[in-house]
Amino acid sequence: MTYRSASTTHLAVDDLSLSVDEGQFYTLLGPSGCGKTTTLRCVAGLETPDSGEIYIGDELVFSSKRGVSVPPYARNIGMVFQSYAIWPHMSVFENVAFPLKNLRPRLSRAEIKERVNEALALVQLNGLGDRPAPYLSGGQQQRLALARALVGNPRILLLDEPLSNLDAKLREEMRIEIRKLVDKLQLTTLFVTHEQIEALTMSDVIAVMRSGEIVQAASPSAIYYNPVEPYIADFIGKTNLISAKVVSQDSGSMVRVESELGELICQMPDNIAVGESVVLVIRPENVVITQATFGTGNVIRGQVAEISFLGNMTDCVVQVGDRIVRVQLHPKNAPSRGDMVSLHLPSEHCVVIKTA
Ligand code: ADP
Ligand code: MG
Repeated sequence: MTYRSASTTHLAVDDLSLSVDEGQFYTLLGPSGCGKTTTLRCVAGLETPDSGEIYIGDELVFSSKRGVSVPPYARNIGMVFQSYAIWPHMSVFENVAFPLKNLRPRLSRAEIKERVNEALALVQLNGLGDRPAPYLSGGQQQRLALARALVGNPRILLLDEPLSNLDAKLREEMRIEIRKLVDKLQLTTLFVTHEQIEALTMSDVIAVMRSGEIVQAASPSAIYYNPVEPYIADFIGKTNLISAKVVSQDSGSMVRVESELGELICQMPDNIAVGESVVLVIRPENVVITQATFGTGNVIRGQVAEISFLGNMTDCVVQVGDRIVRVQLHPKNAPSRGDMVSLHLPSEHCVVIKTA
């Protein structure tokens, strides 16, 4: 999908393929500008891809080759825009009723009323139908946008960063509520976010995007624990990425690597051979500050360079030779700045991945 102006062209989404199963909650995750919104707008019919095909269920809604382009209102989708795009001159009721005006055969006034009230009840805005839309709080506007997306019984729901305008507490509540709602309606959902935590907690599948492409599409735990590239590991959480080389195969699926932190035993994915250069990934919450002596399996020694107290945990930066290792631990167990500490990197949590 290319954006064109008089003087420039910009390839926003590049040869992207994705397939969402019926009833699945599928998330596009990536930094700002990577093409998430553009992808969603192509599905909705609000942008025209340069090439390719789009199916919703069995229906071909776009094909450049066959000259098919079903207009947005006929695609039977519900969409929540990042800005909500609520009409300020209308009441809550009128906003939700709006998409029903395009339905054929036409609905009676009584049917419209029933459908709108059902949709408002789904998002817990019952009784607010008469209120002018601008007189809603941010959270209520978000619910209104959701009700408007659901009122036509869409085949698929498209959500573009629907939580980004809410405060932290409400955002957390709505994560759970939206997931529950689409489960209840068994609605196939394509969700867009740049927040790792939303993606990890809400999704069946996460597709991590970079520059208009999907780099990896997998379950949240696979994305988290078996990233296929350092980009994924780095994007999905503050993580330790350490250069290493595989020196020998140990027992079973374990390998011995020579790393910037010394020799370590790690988990070995199938696609890596002895002699290869790799990146060792270990998450801060899996590093343990230990009493074990330096020199025993996967224990290294360093000095605490920084400590930040985050309430429910403490973030620690430990200097190990020329490298730093991030550690997260319970505040009760936190060392002090300047302390010499032994770090245990449990081999089941040390995953090596190919360098890109
Ligand atoms: P995301 O939603 O992941 O932040 P977008 O899909 O909005 O990313 O944008 C992808 C790329 O396309 C960005 O580089 C953006 O600047 C560019 N882009 C988006 N919309 C337009 C537009 N209407 N005209 C030109 N370029 C655009
Ligand atoms: Mg966007």
